[in-house]
Amino acid sequence: MVVSLCGVVKNMRGYVRRCMDRRFGQATRKAFEEKTGLAPTDYWDESYPGGAALDTDQTGIEYAASHGATMFGYQAHGDHCGGQPDVSDADIQARLDVQIAQLSKKYPGRHFRIFATEAGVEIKEV
Ligand SMILES: [Zn+2]
Repeated sequence: MVVSLCGVVKNMRGYVRRCMDRRFGQATRKAFEEKTGLAPTDYWDESYPGGAALDTDQTGIEYAASHGATMFGYQAHGDHCGGQPDVSDADIQARLDVQIAQLSKKYPGRHFRIFATEAGVEIKEV
């Protein structure tokens, strides 16, 4: 185990699942990095239409978990999601919570709920 000068464990890895919507990708990554202390190269970043609010392919998260990921971020967003057309922001958040409940039971570690809107990114540990 290697520890950097600032005390961050260098081999700790994370994983983020987010929507591919270009409005929120950069802000989501920044929020995850600030909350976890991970550097941009310390975690896997996977995006799908609809983000973590939808039950989707598990290949990426399985890979990350089996290769040392211990911090997991699950992002969805409001203000119209092309991956979930005609779904309200409230319903997208409800879907996100269902997915987080399932994934956080399956993968050991710390889990973060991320919801982005044009007003900003909200992140909290769950
Ligand atoms: Zn979206």
